[in-house]
Amino acid sequence: ERTRIRVPAVHDEGAPLFIGGTGVVLIAGPCAVENYDLMLEVGRRVKAAGAHMLRGGAFKPRTSPYSFQGLGREGLEILRAVRGETGLPVVTEVMDTKDVELVSEYADLLQIGARNMQNFTLLKEAGRSRRPVVLKRGMANTIEEWLMSAEYIMNAGNEQVILCERGIRTIETLTRNTLDLSAVPVVRRESHLPVMVDPSHGCGHADLVPALVRGAIAAGADAVMVEVHPDPERALSDGPQSLRPAEFERLVEEAGRVARAV
Ligand code: PEP
Ligand code: MN
Repeated sequence: ERTRIRVPAVHDEGAPLFIGGTGVVLIAGPCAVENYDLMLEVGRRVKAAGAHMLRGGAFKPRTSPYSFQGLGREGLEILRAVRGETGLPVVTEVMDTKDVELVSEYADLLQIGARNMQNFTLLKEAGRSRRPVVLKRGMANTIEEWLMSAEYIMNAGNEQVILCERGIRTIETLTRNTLDLSAVPVVRRESHLPVMVDPSHGCGHADLVPALVRGAIAAGADAVMVEVHPDPERALSDGPQSLRPAEFERLVEEAGRVARAV
């Protein structure tokens, strides 16, 4: 039996949103929550285009300590406000065990990032949250290790886990990571959990994202998460892989055509 995860019903239609076994859920938004106006603009645009959920990091795992680290609690407040304005449920990353409770108060879905896939204390703490967890695959982890990390969360009491493929490190340099689309059917064979694909981090280049979204849906993804920013050149993080809202609109149409065909 495939697991179906219920995302709290906050959108205006009042209909609950499910991830797994019921169509493809589209999640979009900037890499980081930068400020209220930008978040609201993206929220409105992606909602109008057909997105089901909004993303945006308040706690950012940046390679350099000198890069923008995220707004923290203020970012969570912004997400809550935009969720109220748009009706879109939100997913945001939790990086630290001590913040799981705080982030659970604001986010509909908790995200555990690639860099924390084997942070076992964080996994156990997320297992004690009542929020569903999006567990990203580590950039150097096998599918088996990823599934064992999901077990950590479930074993701690939270069965609501969504597995997110976001690219792995390979010899390739023309893409930021190599999006492993084979992970989608492998996860579907090895596990009952829903599978999400994040092609933005998977390839690192906005122009490649639409093809990979089409591929992910054709491969059987239950959800797709993409980064969208109104002004990618000025984004505080991950601009090069962020779609403009108009590009996202076109992508939603293409995604719909593929979803209807599979
Ligand atoms: C993100 O979704 O913004 C992110 C940091 O992703 P990952 O953990 O996959 O790098
Ligand atoms: Mn990002």
